[in-house]
Amino acid sequence: MSTKATIVIIEDEKNICSFISRILEPEGYRVITSNTGRDGLQHINSNHPDLILLDLMLPGISGEEVLQEIRKQGNTPVIILTAKDTIDDKVEVLQSGADDYVTKPFDIKEVLARVAVQIRRMEGSFSEGNLVYQGLELDRENFCVRVDQTELPKITRQEFSILELLLKHPKKVFSKEEIFEYAWEEAYMGETKTLDVHISNIRKKIKSVTSKEYIETIWGIGYRLHP
Ligand code: CA
Repeated sequence: MSTKATIVIIEDEKNICSFISRILEPEGYRVITSNTGRDGLQHINSNHPDLILLDLMLPGISGEEVLQEIRKQGNTPVIILTAKDTIDDKVEVLQSGADDYVTKPFDIKEVLARVAVQIRRMEGSFSEGNLVYQGLELDRENFCVRVDQTELPKITRQEFSILELLLKHPKKVFSKEEIFEYAWEEAYMGETKTLDVHISNIRKKIKSVTSKEYIETIWGIGYRLHP
């Protein structure tokens, strides 16, 4: 990292805040903690963090509302801190625009790894040129996606990575496993719902600006760009 990445933590339990700060600061991150959603949003506006760690169960403005507010403003990566751990809870979190989640109680290594993935992806996405396929353009400098010059609604990091992989090799059929491991940078455990939700989110966003279809489902295998 050339400059220190800034991370905002929004979590009402002060001991969890200081616990996470103590893990992240020695790794070279600048950490700002806040105990309410309102406070957190102010920190986000004034510090433009590179990553946000967000608890869902907050007094006052809920974590879900904070996330909505963050997504109105941009696509800063958000990792949700949650005690809910059913697959439906996770899918709901991802559908609402978060990039990833960590389940309480935390494993220190897991928190560090997930933070590093999001930071690395963001740095990577700024360093290369645009990818274009039949009017679909991935703008890696501005982190946005356009179809025939019209910008899609705000896209998440994982959605961006999925499109990036598909656009890098437009004719290739990718297995769900390959896409998952590229976009999440972790081993695929055979759970496909998370990826399917992201693909469906991407399709919805594309559909909101064009009638063209870009992602084709190859049944039993995975996905590719429509030839
Ligand atoms: Ca809480």
